[in-house]
Amino acid sequence: MSDETTQVEAAGDEFERDLASLGEVQLVDADPSKAEELLRILGELKVRHTGKKSAIAAAKKLIGKVAAEKRADFGQLVQTVENKIVSTIAETEAKLKDLVSKAKTESERLDVTIPGRRPRTGHLHPITIVRQRIEDIFVSMGYSIEDDREIETDYYNFDALNIPEGHPARESQDTFYTTEGFALRSQTSTVQIRAMERRGVPIRILAPGRVFRRDTPDMTHTPMFHQLEGLCVDKGITMAHLKGTVTEWLQRLFDKDTRTRFRPSYFPFTEPSAEFDFSCFVCHGSGKLDGERCRPCKGTGWIELGGSGMVHPNVLRACNIDPTVYSGFAFGFGLERMAALVYEIDDIRHMFENDMRFLQQFK
Ligand SMILES: [Zn+2]
Repeated sequence: MSDETTQVEAAGDEFERDLASLGEVQLVDADPSKAEELLRILGELKVRHTGKKSAIAAAKKLIGKVAAEKRADFGQLVQTVENKIVSTIAETEAKLKDLVSKAKTESERLDVTIPGRRPRTGHLHPITIVRQRIEDIFVSMGYSIEDDREIETDYYNFDALNIPEGHPARESQDTFYTTEGFALRSQTSTVQIRAMERRGVPIRILAPGRVFRRDTPDMTHTPMFHQLEGLCVDKGITMAHLKGTVTEWLQRLFDKDTRTRFRPSYFPFTEPSAEFDFSCFVCHGSGKLDGERCRPCKGTGWIELGGSGMVHPNVLRACNIDPTVYSGFAFGFGLERMAALVYEIDDIRHMFENDMRFLQQFK
């Protein structure tokens, strides 16, 4: 046997040995998870035995150099060995690819017997819940809900509300301004002006909405919060209507025995002005709960809620309403404070932190 022939047969044997080292490929039930790794090894094997630097490639180059009478036989041998190597690799590759695809299908298989995941149902924010409860009460008393812009001019935020330039009230309400000089409204009273301009009188509206102040956040302050403001203007409206309306609303929101009290105060846009309190809905005005000091009312039996008063004649005039013919009352309060009372929340900042553990309590 010539050297060339031995060389070709050795190449075939070496391939067989390499292939045998794959071992598991030959097993029908080869572990599918290993198939990908075996495929990679087979790829290396393919390069080694059929690539440009393989023994077969070298043998092919010899075909032209062997003696003419042996050339046909030698050529035949090289071809046979090469075919065997190529076809074995192709078969093994197909087998492995099949195993990989089966493994994939298995892992992606849908098990229809697994119980479905329940979609998480959403729910309203505590501020929205309280706002809607109050809105419902006022709508039933003939009020309509009024919404308006949050970015305002100085005129609507201050001037029209009887707070001219230099008025001390502008200082406490120091708000945020845009670079064009517009103000983020510091109170929902701006809605009163716009509604009276648009609709004229008589008017009964409830205006809930976001307002902004340059406050540093703490347990009871945030730079953005919600106010709810009521306005009623008609002929012959008096302070008695204000007291009756506020009392009726709080009795419906808490309970029928709720009492209210009005303390003289000062607001630029109302005259006379009053702050209003209501009897504590937890201790019913006694200031004590199970012998202990009642927390929501701090033991006083009263809870301070908001500001109110008779609409200032200057505000009516700014809206082209004759204050000698028409009069009205207005009141407003913070929704965060109301929600904090109802749900016994100590720190109003929780309401804006979007922490699901907190929000999920108010379903
Ligand atoms: Zn109390």
